[in-house]
Amino acid sequence: RKKVMVISTGAKQLDELLGGGIQTMSITEAFGEFRTGKTQIAHTLCVIAQLPTAMGGGNGKAAYIDTEGTFRHERIKAIADRFGIDSEAALENILVARAYNSEHQMDLITEIAARFAEEKGIFRLLVIDSIIALFRTDFSGRGELSERQQKLNQMLSRLMKIAEEFNVAIYLTNQVQSDPGAGMTFVADPKKPVGGHIMAHASTTRLYLRKGRGEERIAKVYDSPDVPEAEAPYAITVGGIVD
Ligand code: ADP
Ligand code: MG
Repeated sequence: RKKVMVISTGAKQLDELLGGGIQTMSITEAFGEFRTGKTQIAHTLCVIAQLPTAMGGGNGKAAYIDTEGTFRHERIKAIADRFGIDSEAALENILVARAYNSEHQMDLITEIAARFAEEKGIFRLLVIDSIIALFRTDFSGRGELSERQQKLNQMLSRLMKIAEEFNVAIYLTNQVQSDPGAGMTFVADPKKPVGGHIMAHASTTRLYLRKGRGEERIAKVYDSPDVPEAEAPYAITVGGIVD
């Protein structure tokens, strides 16, 4: 039986909030406004995923689907420096793919799953930054909301299976304009299974990110199956996410 692993976010308090970090065989959805650090957390996770488990890592490679053109080699290098690993090697261990529309995004997920199967046990993390941006563009019409949600659910269902089958952590970002109390819709509603067949321990954790005072950022866990609702501060630095 596969064992759930955790990948540290780089920040102790945030890790504690998440029960040690983001979990494999599970989807973590980070949602929040522009510049709250969704992409910076993604970059940090890509480096930490490669570290030994004793360092909070996943001892594996990462895959990154970039839908907004915000993946930056320099950020990976700077974060690798923080953890004392070779920056070129750190970059080589990240499979980066740029998606240009929602269908392409699904195709890339299929290709990445094939790669996970070829290199069994090698990958520990899959990032999709952002899960929903291209859907918003492709299904922008008034009558297209239910089709968009249906396609998104298919994608999430697919991702849940990938998380389980290959024991990877999946980290999704979702930019929202307002706080979750204001009636926004979530990508993944953990109270409803995301379509199709989901195995018993599959789970989704939603992490709401917001700005605090100055450079401070605050994360809050919503509706996690195994973590209480609570908050943790974190900060964004050149070396990635810190307390
Ligand atoms: P989001 O994806 O949520 O829109 P980002 O992850 O891109 O937000 O985070 C943007 C924030 O990260 C900005 O406040 C920016 O100042 C900070 N940031 C980006 N790069 C660095 C860096 N090298 N050093 C410190 N802060 C950085
Ligand atoms: Mg971003």
